[in-house]
Order: sequence, then C-alpha cells, then structure tokens
Amino acid sequence: MKYENIRKQVLEAILQAVDQGLIHGTSGNIALRDSENRNIVAITPSGISYAGMKAEDIAIVEMKEDGTNEWIDGPYKPSSELPMHTAVMRARQDVNATVHTHSMFATIMAMGENPVIRPITPPQCEFTPIGIVPFTMPGSNDVAKKVADALGEKGRACLIKNHGMFSCGKDMKAAMHATIYTEEMAQTTYYAKVLGTYEPMPEEAERMMKALIEADQAV
Ligand SMILES: [Zn+2]
Repeated sequence: MKYENIRKQVLEAILQAVDQGLIHGTSGNIALRDSENRNIVAITPSGISYAGMKAEDIAIVEMKEDGTNEWIDGPYKPSSELPMHTAVMRARQDVNATVHTHSMFATIMAMGENPVIRPITPPQCEFTPIGIVPFTMPGSNDVAKKVADALGEKGRACLIKNHGMFSCGKDMKAAMHATIYTEEMAQTTYYAKVLGTYEPMPEEAERMMKALIEADQAV
C-alpha cells in the first residue's frame, strides 16, 4: 500500500475521534500531510462509515502548484471538505495535520451574536484565541479561505457557525489535542453559562500560561 504511514495515522485519528464522540456517522474529516512529499495529503473519504474502515480506504490527494487538488489513490473519493484542509496546509507550512468535526458543544457555542469561547482551564490556553467563521456553504472554496483566514498565522482552532469546528497542528497528536481541548472549552463554557457561574481565566493569566506553554515550561 502506498503512503501507508499517513493513511494509518489518519485512520487511527478518525477512529479515536469517533470513539470520543467528537465525530458521528460520516460527519467530520481528518487530513495529514506526508512529511517527505509535502504536496501529498491523506484524507478521510467522502460519505463512507468510519466503522470497519481500513487504511487503504483513506484517500490520497496531490496538492498541485496551480492551487487545485488531484485525487491520486484510494477506492473512495476524498471528503467534500478537502478544500478546507488543503487551504490551511497551503497557507501554513507549520501545519501538517487538520481535523474538522461537527462536535456538539463547539457547534452550539459557534452560534449567537458574539460566539467567543475563552479558556477555563490552563491547558486550554495553548489553543486560544479561537477564531470564528460566519456561515458559508460547506465544501466551498469560500469556506476554505475563511477558515484559513480565521486561523491566521498561528491559530490552532476556529468555530464555523451552523457547522462545527476546524483545528490543526504540527502533527496528528497536536491537531487532535486542539480538537479535544476546543470541544472541552466549548462544553465547560456551555455548562458554566447554564449554571450562571461562567468565569473564564483572567486575560493576564491566559497570556502568562500561553508564554509558559510556548517555552515548554508548563507543568
Ligand atoms: Zn463539516
């Protein structure tokens, strides 16, 4: 099997996301860039149930220099959200793994007039600020560009109104952490707001925590 390593990592991540309730049915998708052939991306296929999926079922795509993507291997066509994943990988050379979910609490917190989520616990500070993308048709180049813009140069996660969230990292572990902590942030925010006890970390503490995490000195 060609590109076995990246296919296996994508399969493992999608099964983990399903197991953790971050992805249901065929919603959500995960992609990983090949470390040697940096224009090659493995991505979950479109409309296929993740239960029982095999590594060879993961689609392989080549990011062409003219900005288009070509499906080059795998029995099933790539996820319809492919443009979102490749737009971020093209814009960010530091990003090699990308995750898109319709996870419940991120989707809930993406609505409303001013959908801001802030860190409630110290580890969440690694992934803030969380960007926000207004509703845009899924699968379009428009939403792909807006997600890349919302992440900017350093962003790790953003919410997409009436859709879900998108997160990224230098490798699959980092991208999955961004996904898990963003969903956790949305969930804790939701329950705290329902209880009337919402109190995110002070901005100064968030800044100090971010600096510690960046210097790799956080405990
Ligand atoms: Zn989606």
